[in-house]
Amino acid sequence: MNSKFISNIPKVRGNITLDAKVSNFSWFKVGGNADLLFEPADKEDLSFFLQNISSDVDIFVLGGASNILIRDGGIPGVTIKLNKKFDKIYQLKKHLVVGAAVRNMTLSNYAKKNDIIGYEFLSGIPGTIGGAVRMNAGAYGKNISDILTKIEIVDGKNGIYQITKDQLKMSYRKVILPNKAVILDAYFNKLEDKEENIERKIKEIKSIRKLSQPVKSLTGGSTFKNPKGFKAWKLIDEAGCRGLSIGGAKVSELHTNFIINYNNASASDIETLGEEVKYRVYNKLGVNLEWEIIRIGRLEKEI
Ligand SMILES: Cc1cc2nc3c(=O)[nH]c(=O)nc-3n(C[C@H](O)[C@H](O)[C@H](O)COP(=O)(O)OP(=O)(O)OC[C@H]3O[C@@H](n4cnc5c(N)ncnc54)[C@H](O)[C@@H]3O)c2cc1C
Repeated sequence: MNSKFISNIPKVRGNITLDAKVSNFSWFKVGGNADLLFEPADKEDLSFFLQNISSDVDIFVLGGASNILIRDGGIPGVTIKLNKKFDKIYQLKKHLVVGAAVRNMTLSNYAKKNDIIGYEFLSGIPGTIGGAVRMNAGAYGKNISDILTKIEIVDGKNGIYQITKDQLKMSYRKVILPNKAVILDAYFNKLEDKEENIERKIKEIKSIRKLSQPVKSLTGGSTFKNPKGFKAWKLIDEAGCRGLSIGGAKVSELHTNFIINYNNASASDIETLGEEVKYRVYNKLGVNLEWEIIRIGRLEKEI
């Protein structure tokens, strides 16, 4: 971290921490520190920061860190984490407006209590609404794109503004966001049903998940996207990778598309294992797997 970078940090009201430990946020519980962690006081504070930070500084937004692998050398530039100020839910006539820091499970429970349907699938997906929109997260045939109508974002060029779902060009685990934009709020459809039907669906989803995924392990969810016409877990199984391990990282026996940190793995163990799985699947079955987990940061700490 150079001194020019530090002296040019905009004067904000939120918290700034240099060399911040962020591995504890991450589901994998691995990775080096963030050069600078910024927790904005509110939307305006974040907007001011983004408009005044030099354009050549890297910006990374941390949600619930359930779909990322922070590499051992830490995250360069600025890491933004949204706090309590960004976790409000409220209703308009046709919309649910949900802050980016709201947990998916909190939203799913809120919808159930208010007899609003369509949010049951979120009950088993870890992380926040910001991360869910950015990843177009989904499960059991439903994706965020099925319920989203628009989002409010902020970036250094335009300040705070809204964009529609169509502008995001959402597809399977893919969203086109403007450069260095931070999602602030998501606007969702509101459809109503009886609470007991919603409760039943949530229970079903939770029990299937418990049986089929290592939900109690240190993991990053699905490691790879499903290639068109294939299931990633099946390809990985057919390539003989079930239970394969490198260092403290292992391919889950329960769900082969999950890598788990089962014994003090480093980020490097996890990434090397993922690359080995990719290599074996391609070698044996000729299918190229694409990482779903977002890998961020430097491979090794800079001295
Ligand atoms: C046990 C387990 C089960 C899982 N099951 C599923 C599943 O069934 N379906 C599924 O789709 N995923 C699943 N996942 C993956 C993960 O939970 C989702 O992708 C989730 O939506 C990520 O949200 P997050 O807040 O944790 O984002 P993070 O992991 O923190 O970040 C993911 C991406 O979103 C970006 N981001 C986060 N917040 C914002 C913001 N406010 N503005 C801009 N960008 C932002 C980050 O920069 C990063 O690029 C699972 C993960 C685990 C650990």
